[in-house]
Amino acid sequence: MVDVETQSILVVGGGMTGLTAAIEAAEAGREVYLVEKNPYLGGRVAQFHQYFPKLCPPYCGLEINFRRIKSNSKLHVLTMAQVESVSGSKGAWDVRIKIEPRYVNEKCTVCGKCAEACTREIDNPFNYGMNKIKAAYLPHDMAFPLRYVLDPSLAKSAEGQAVKDACPYGAIELDMQPKSVELKVGAVVWATGWLPYDAKRLDTLGFGAYPNVITNVMMERLSAGNGPTGGKILRPSDGEAPKTIAFIQCAGSRDENHLPFCSSICCMASMKQATYVRAQYPDAKVYIFYIDIRAMDRLESFYADLKKDENVTFFKGKVAKIEQDGPTGNLVLRVEDTTAGSLNMINVDMAVLATGMQPNTSISQQPAFAQRDDYGFIASQEVTPGFFAAGCSRSPVNVSEAVQDGTAAALKAIQSVVRR
Ligand SMILES: Cc1cc2nc3c(=O)[nH]c(=O)nc-3n(C[C@H](O)[C@H](O)[C@H](O)COP(=O)(O)OP(=O)(O)OC[C@H]3O[C@@H](n4cnc5c(N)ncnc54)[C@H](O)[C@@H]3O)c2cc1C
Repeated sequence: MVDVETQSILVVGGGMTGLTAAIEAAEAGREVYLVEKNPYLGGRVAQFHQYFPKLCPPYCGLEINFRRIKSNSKLHVLTMAQVESVSGSKGAWDVRIKIEPRYVNEKCTVCGKCAEACTREIDNPFNYGMNKIKAAYLPHDMAFPLRYVLDPSLAKSAEGQAVKDACPYGAIELDMQPKSVELKVGAVVWATGWLPYDAKRLDTLGFGAYPNVITNVMMERLSAGNGPTGGKILRPSDGEAPKTIAFIQCAGSRDENHLPFCSSICCMASMKQATYVRAQYPDAKVYIFYIDIRAMDRLESFYADLKKDENVTFFKGKVAKIEQDGPTGNLVLRVEDTTAGSLNMINVDMAVLATGMQPNTSISQQPAFAQRDDYGFIASQEVTPGFFAAGCSRSPVNVSEAVQDGTAAALKAIQSVVRR
């Protein structure tokens, strides 16, 4: 007889890595619990406009995974949930999970009446705060699970009752409380991914001080049809179409004072974003300032093709400082040309900082026993018998590598519960 408790697998993090690990393990017959701290699955990829190499919209890949989840009764998804503690050993992990209240139950039909009745607004976390949304909100139009959420500030306010009364389906529960769930599982896959390096710490590059300096993750949202500008790349200062855009590579990466490592993705991400600009604005000029371009394997041809575009200039140089040119909102970049050894002042309408991928494990205490490397990534695939790290929690990887690593982790986890 199968011991359901100790043969089951916990996957922490519902990005591409964790989704893959959870689905593969469930389809191989394991009972799987997938724990995700956001109110939706998909991780950072859900926030992209397109993803390389094929430049498909993220929902090409995510939709298939969501369908696989829906048709598998062995996979249990917990959103707005985080692991509070984990202890034990291979075959017998005791896990305590905290689930934050969503204030909206499964009766939600996504009719939007709650949002219509709501006047309170919050910064939109899905768009990195670039616009406001109602405090009763759908995280985004393709969210899985497709269900509204109430911001705690609304649920606890007098307005919460009016929003509840507006729901014709009895889906709003203002008295929902945080819950603790205890699980016993046989193996754990840790796939908590990455966060963008905090660009405010790059004090010479003007992020936060000058509105037209944005980051690469913001650029994904600005370009996406379900983003704050409906997919139009516009200058935040005045809503104008930019005529010149600079991409600043290694913004904080390969720098002892910030992220000493190379995220290996940012060059490709900027080149991809250059194609967004060129598709919208055929006359726009794009500069890519780089130390050296890293486009690995088959992605080299993406780089080679972009180099043929006469409106795209690859400039080998380090951007030392960005300043704003008075009330125009334009930016002046001070760039050291590392080939010629000269100093250049270059004017652009907008700048995108290619900040790197910092592991979430570098800022979180969990799992307490997992050894980190010098940069905060989990140091090995098998942390301890029956406990595995995968995807960006152990190395900066692209989506196809995340999927491979998630699959590998699922296999290791299954082997560890089977071989006991
Ligand atoms: C600007 C930019 C553009 C990129 N574009 C591309 C591209 O075009 N193509 C490509 O192949 N790659 C691209 N990448 C890389 C891509 O983002 C990663 O490969 C992918 O996100 C890795 O998935 P992941 O699941 O490991 O991590 P994530 O996507 O970060 O997912 C981790 C998940 O874990 C959740 N989580 C975190 N902590 C906890 C916790 N404590 N408890 C529960 N859940 C938690 C998070 O909410 C998230 O849902 C890009 C990267 C950047 C920086």
